[in-house]
Amino acid sequence: MRLSPLVLLLAPGLVALSAACSQSTEPTPEQPIIIIEDPVPDTSNPDSDAGDNDADEVITETGSVDGEACESDANCRSGFCAPDPDWPGGYCTTLNCETRVDCEGDGENNACLHPGRGSNFCVRLCTSNDECRDGYVCQGHSQTEGYCAPNPAPPFEGTGEDFPFDVTCTPAPEGRADLAFDVSDDLHSYTVVPFVSSGRRLYPSSVTSDLDGTSFNLRQENGFQATGSQLFGFINPTIFPAVPDDIGKIREGAHTYRLSTDDAEVCHYLLERPTRGTEIDLNIYLVGLSYLGLNANTAANHDDMQEILATVESIYNQADVSLGQVRFFSVSEEAEEAYSVVRSESDVARLAMLTEAPGTDADSMLSANLILVQKFSFTDSAGTLGISMGIPGAPALHGSGISGVALTGEYIGRGGSRFDGNAFTANIVAHELGHFLGLFHTTETTMRHFDPLDDTPRCTDQDFPEGCPDWGNLMFPVANPGNFGVTPDQAHAIGVNPLVK
Ligand SMILES: [Zn+2]
Repeated sequence: MRLSPLVLLLAPGLVALSAACSQSTEPTPEQPIIIIEDPVPDTSNPDSDAGDNDADEVITETGSVDGEACESDANCRSGFCAPDPDWPGGYCTTLNCETRVDCEGDGENNACLHPGRGSNFCVRLCTSNDECRDGYVCQGHSQTEGYCAPNPAPPFEGTGEDFPFDVTCTPAPEGRADLAFDVSDDLHSYTVVPFVSSGRRLYPSSVTSDLDGTSFNLRQENGFQATGSQLFGFINPTIFPAVPDDIGKIREGAHTYRLSTDDAEVCHYLLERPTRGTEIDLNIYLVGLSYLGLNANTAANHDDMQEILATVESIYNQADVSLGQVRFFSVSEEAEEAYSVVRSESDVARLAMLTEAPGTDADSMLSANLILVQKFSFTDSAGTLGISMGIPGAPALHGSGISGVALTGEYIGRGGSRFDGNAFTANIVAHELGHFLGLFHTTETTMRHFDPLDDTPRCTDQDFPEGCPDWGNLMFPVANPGNFGVTPDQAHAIGVNPLVK
């Protein structure tokens, strides 16, 4: 099972928001089942260029061997180049191999991968990330051996030198770390953001008060708070108290955040809220919407944009939250050309990398990035309308592949008597922002997974979608301008997010 960030789907004949990610309370060891044929490296001859006795068939004399970079098929001896950007820098490989003998290589440590689903193909073996090219990680096959695979994590730029919050890094000997942090007295809420700078994985376990042992188990009852690490691997923004039941479990003083990791070090920062906030600041990036007369200079006076924002604000008013400062931004011409039409999750990650903190002070950093593009046209998930890069997203991080939400602007200003494109767009904005603030779907479209809140109805055996008792809620997974309701527990989840100031 692959977990991916939430997407909104528009089903034919039905205006639908759906989620590719089901919120699971189980930990997700999601390693695909793979078999590497003949994985034992041939170490018999370090000068094995001369001893390439596997290559007894006629092959192209020129071109790169499997596992090397390529720009086109002609660059590869195999005649096949798995293309960038899914394979960063390109990746020469032999398709439909059976054993490593079929893989092109001059003594390189290549093998034939049997992915279980799809065609077999040749890969470069490795024992550590250092042996893989930029953009690749050594994906574990066993404890000591793996193969160089595209790094599935969105690009992560870390917190940077100007980050206004203290960042503490803790060694993780033998893959375990206890992060220590201190919680001030009488807080409304606090957020701990553990992350691994290299982009390797972390696995949250628990957060425990040193004072009296009060603990949150991030693998069981509070397992929903490990969603960040399930989505992206390297980061897990964790907010307390995430649900109303946890309000009485907030303690002051020393705490320990226990986790395990694939790296030697884990860093973290802490954000505290002394009181419940009432405003959220937005940074809205406009990509490819000039045809509507909508760009960073016109947005503040653009009727459709202002109507959309007024509707978003009225939805959040139900949670006693107003829009604070709303800033508008453009991107470069090149970026506009490349990403006006968003085709994949990696496009969203690349757009999110273009975001910039609107200032270096703490208040400026605590703002949410919304990226409105001309159109979504996902090749692998038709009808996707938007993606939130996290539940919740990482607060105060800008310029990384996870820094915000992206959604389609194709319905702006459209409509007639039966369809209001601005209200529909506002619904998508408010829904995606809800994910970024920490809200899950009330019911996933599988009808087997639900949010962790007590007061949101669940759809189990009713007629999906309109027959569901949670139809009408903002976080119902089917888009409809009439689905804007926010329950008190959802208002709680919004109000504890540090982006609500
Ligand atoms: Zn959603």
